[in-house]
Amino acid sequence: MTTATRPDVRIAERAGFCYGVRLAIDKAKHARTEGKEVTTLGQLVHNPGIKADLSDRGIRTADLADQVEGGTLVIRAHGVPKSEFETVKGKESLEVIDATCTWVLQSQKAARELAEAGYTVCIIGHEDHPEVKGVRSYAGEKHVVVDDMDRSTWERVPRTKKIGVLSQSTILPQKLEEFAAFCLRRAHDLRVVNTVCPVTLTRQDDSVALALEVDAMIVVGGKNSSNTKELAVKCREILSETVHVADADELAAEHAEWLQDKARIGITGGTSTPEVDLEEVRERVYSLTAAPGGAAAPA
Ligand code: SF4
Repeated sequence: MTTATRPDVRIAERAGFCYGVRLAIDKAKHARTEGKEVTTLGQLVHNPGIKADLSDRGIRTADLADQVEGGTLVIRAHGVPKSEFETVKGKESLEVIDATCTWVLQSQKAARELAEAGYTVCIIGHEDHPEVKGVRSYAGEKHVVVDDMDRSTWERVPRTKKIGVLSQSTILPQKLEEFAAFCLRRAHDLRVVNTVCPVTLTRQDDSVALALEVDAMIVVGGKNSSNTKELAVKCREILSETVHVADADELAAEHAEWLQDKARIGITGGTSTPEVDLEEVRERVYSLTAAPGGAAAPA
């Protein structure tokens, strides 16, 4: 590609905020516009721009339910552990807006029903992810959590009569399939509830389709966003020329060199990445590719 040719930069057909995250943000903003003192329990979204915007509007964030005594508390789309939910609901001085995503509520319900039916609930995901912390709180005393990226943790699954399998909503569906097959060898009665979120599936499908068409992929979203990291993994499987950046500001000089010889560049983002960030990355790519050079993908 010469410097006179602008690259063909395409954004994945479905990318950016999912409705669960959007709804939680809208509910918090709406409460604030009504003049309420709004606090969110944990960050609503792993996105620096949105976090700054919420903060500028006067919306605060608390890490623990105990830290909030009054005003309006918004429970984010990931949900919270049962005990925390009961704590905040029990405070008369607090108005609670529950923005737990309907898909996450279904996972919590499935965990509770499996545990009540005598199944050892086995959840695949990330142990420290807020959604998993919430779901496991409904899964009874015998439940186990295993890591989708660390197969050695799967040995935590006991050999027992009844196993119920659930997943964090944002893991790759293949991981759930592999884990269910693994559990089949450990239980007589296996029940698998597919709790992979369909919204993340469509984002993965569209991102993979785009990765097959382009010379380089840029995955945009917070570095601690689970589904954005999964998107980057998925795209890298198709196309080694894939980078994960938090936002347009992270596209720097080393990326400029790497992008120089790419005629087609794809952009996608996780469910916590607003569309405006994807557009900003597109504009940044245009400006960076206006300079000569050429290099391998930055690490
Ligand atoms: S990724 Fe899916 S489960 Fe998670 S908040 Fe969005 S819609 Fe809900």
